[in-house]
Amino acid sequence: MKTVFFIADGMADLPCMELNGLTPLEAAKTPNMDLIAKKGISGLMDIIKPGTVPGSDVAHLALFGLDPYEYYTGRGPFEAAGLGLDVYPGDIAARVNFATRNADGIVIDRRAGRIREGTAELANLLDGLEIDGVKILFKAGSEHRSALILRGRGLSDRIQSNDPKKEGKPFYEVKALEDTDSAKKTVNIIKKLIKIAEEKFLSAEVNKRRVEANQLLANTLLIRGFGQAPHIPSFLQRTNMKSVCVAGGGLYKGVAALLGMDVIDVPGATGGVTSDIEMKVKYAIEALDSYDFVFLHIKGTDNYGHDGNALGKKEFIEKIDKVIEPLVKVCERGDLVVITSDHSTPCIAKDHTADPVPVIIAGGDVRIDDVTSFGERACAKGGNLRFKGIHLLSIILSAMGLGKKFGA
Ligand code: ZN
Ligand code: ZN
Repeated sequence: MKTVFFIADGMADLPCMELNGLTPLEAAKTPNMDLIAKKGISGLMDIIKPGTVPGSDVAHLALFGLDPYEYYTGRGPFEAAGLGLDVYPGDIAARVNFATRNADGIVIDRRAGRIREGTAELANLLDGLEIDGVKILFKAGSEHRSALILRGRGLSDRIQSNDPKKEGKPFYEVKALEDTDSAKKTVNIIKKLIKIAEEKFLSAEVNKRRVEANQLLANTLLIRGFGQAPHIPSFLQRTNMKSVCVAGGGLYKGVAALLGMDVIDVPGATGGVTSDIEMKVKYAIEALDSYDFVFLHIKGTDNYGHDGNALGKKEFIEKIDKVIEPLVKVCERGDLVVITSDHSTPCIAKDHTADPVPVIIAGGDVRIDDVTSFGERACAKGGNLRFKGIHLLSIILSAMGLGKKFGA
């Protein structure tokens, strides 16, 4: 038996005025998700615990059965792994923006004019450097985004970011958030790295081209989300399942990579609202031939929630419903299909909230309940009632016949 584990990021919502008091998921025409709900058992899930607002990173740890209070050390390690850097336990990782500063130390643009090309050249100027005996690994992502790893002894992740989060403000000072030698050492390395980057970037070819094109220079680094890479027990070890991730967003690929999942790069998968979600579903279905557990992630629903665009979210959910039609066949042939969100991103809040998310588990021998549509209110009447995110994986394992007996 195999499982497709599908997460529509931030799909869960609250009633919207524009949708006559329905949520986008309730208002959307979703014949395929409704059919899967009809064939399965539904419920509501508190991702972390009732009343706790989840970030996507901790939410995914919980959904993969890991206690985020134990394993979450910051976003950096996930972002670095998501860019394809090999992250080892103990590494200090951080997210980085290429940015623009002026001579007075003011942040002119946190994204270096949304730089699109030439960032690999900038990353290469820093990748492989050694500062105070510590190795620097540096990789560019999409647009202004990149990530770095510090690898060596006596380092700390208790470091304050230099990112003031707003343009027109001076840089924050990179400083230690704890009084230890390792934090002081790390601060010195980060300061040196920024200085080296600023010197090298001045004469970089990409910046010469940007001067000619009258574009903002990528002349400094904003570094944030420091985290020491945790020692995460592998998904294979914990579940005995060969697993794979089909996602566009770097964070989700990064979580999967740190769990030891294989990661498939799908052409056209951007991790945004324009992502080729049909292609992602195609790759996910094909992956079932070689994997026991396929994690499929679609991000666009969360973006519409953050924008407060209820109608756009409803239409995007309808688009998702069309492309996931093959999942109906997956549960009809007896494999397991799980559909849920990693948190609510209600359009009226334009941000994540603690509201529990609807979840369906269909296929196999699950105890089918009376729920016939997929939605926040409908799933509240389901047979799985209300449970915590960290228990989802064990519920899946048990539905797959892989549950372990406790006691004799
Ligand atoms: Zn999310
Ligand atoms: Zn979000």
